[in-house]
Amino acid sequence: MIPSVLPTYNRAPLTFVKGEGSWMIEADGRRFLDLGAGIAVNVLGHAHPSLVNALTDQANALWHVSNLYHIPQQEALADKLVENSFADTVFFTNSGTECCELAVKMVRKYWFEKGQADKTDIIGFEGAFHGRSSAGIAAAGSEKMTKGFGPLLPGFKQVPWGDLDALQNAITDTTAAVILEPVQGEGGIRPMDDADLKAVREICDVAGILLILDEVQCGVGRTGKLFAHEWAGITPDVMMVAKGIGGGFPLGAVLASEEAASGMTAGTHGSTYGGNPLACAVGGAVMDIVAEPAFLDDVNRKAGQFQQSLEGLVASHPDVFESVRGTGLMLGLKCKASNMDVLQAAYDAELITVPAADNVIRLLPPLNISDDDINEAITRLDAAATVVAQNLQG
Ligand SMILES: *Cc1c(COP(=O)(O)O)cnc(C)c1O
Repeated sequence: MIPSVLPTYNRAPLTFVKGEGSWMIEADGRRFLDLGAGIAVNVLGHAHPSLVNALTDQANALWHVSNLYHIPQQEALADKLVENSFADTVFFTNSGTECCELAVKMVRKYWFEKGQADKTDIIGFEGAFHGRSSAGIAAAGSEKMTKGFGPLLPGFKQVPWGDLDALQNAITDTTAAVILEPVQGEGGIRPMDDADLKAVREICDVAGILLILDEVQCGVGRTGKLFAHEWAGITPDVMMVAKGIGGGFPLGAVLASEEAASGMTAGTHGSTYGGNPLACAVGGAVMDIVAEPAFLDDVNRKAGQFQQSLEGLVASHPDVFESVRGTGLMLGLKCKASNMDVLQAAYDAELITVPAADNVIRLLPPLNISDDDINEAITRLDAAATVVAQNLQG
């Protein structure tokens, strides 16, 4: 008999009932160190007092009004995002994949309004993840996500990750935009080199097409800059942000330049819940903390230490791990053993990690994780790897 919850997830047999900073408490009382952060969502850990206060203050004042009216919390958060990014304007959603929907609509409308309605194609990269909506799965294109869900939204193609010649060759007169994650998350923590990201921007400029960056996972301080593309010194035309921006409350945002957004006039897009007072109150509190240069400096300092310790861990478990990947606190361990065996051994050591493609486990701690908790994570990963190595021999 089908369970009352539609069985689309493979869930671990864990039920968390409370969170405190970088720790989650299981129903049976065990304390797990959280290097998953709800897949890069809880950027300030669990139950951060500023976020709890922002949410409860707003909950006591007003929950929902609709975008028929002005929402001051939404305007304040949009101002903060505009001040701290390339963008001139922001549309709020409730999730990452809704950002993909708008990004696709926005770039197509842009060309339509320019009198080039045939420019509708969007080129992405293999291994990408843009969410599970019809546009999201069509943009990523992998059989794993699209099989059985045809007919797919037309106008998408993919080229191999990092293959800029293939990208160049894929661009035609009907190309509207390129979409990519500066650091692929689900695809296995695969950063694009700064030089390649610059080259993609250059290719788009020369071809006169738009660049959409999907920073749903790598944005909001995760890489040690507020947005990952800042490392390469480039700017996109459109950017998708979600996950971390709400610190655990559902919130997404599409950021755009005035030019890229020029087709999106009143009545062309909307959302009942997008940018509601609760979500934007929390998002504002997240931005107040994460956008501070001193906070990002600390992310970079901790990331350097963590990466160094992980290199040591890989060196002492050569049968289990192959390499450390990623940037900032968006890290991955490419495994030699099965990543699912490592994940399970980590659960047994009361440590949360997240699997990804390419036999990787992801390490995405809260950005405010303490130095002690990073050391504890290394101790627990070491214990987990020791068990996996013993099982490989036995
Ligand atoms: C998680 C993710 C999405 C989808 O976000 P949802 O909130 O699950 O819809 C899109 N793009 C990237 C890069 C993601 O990591």
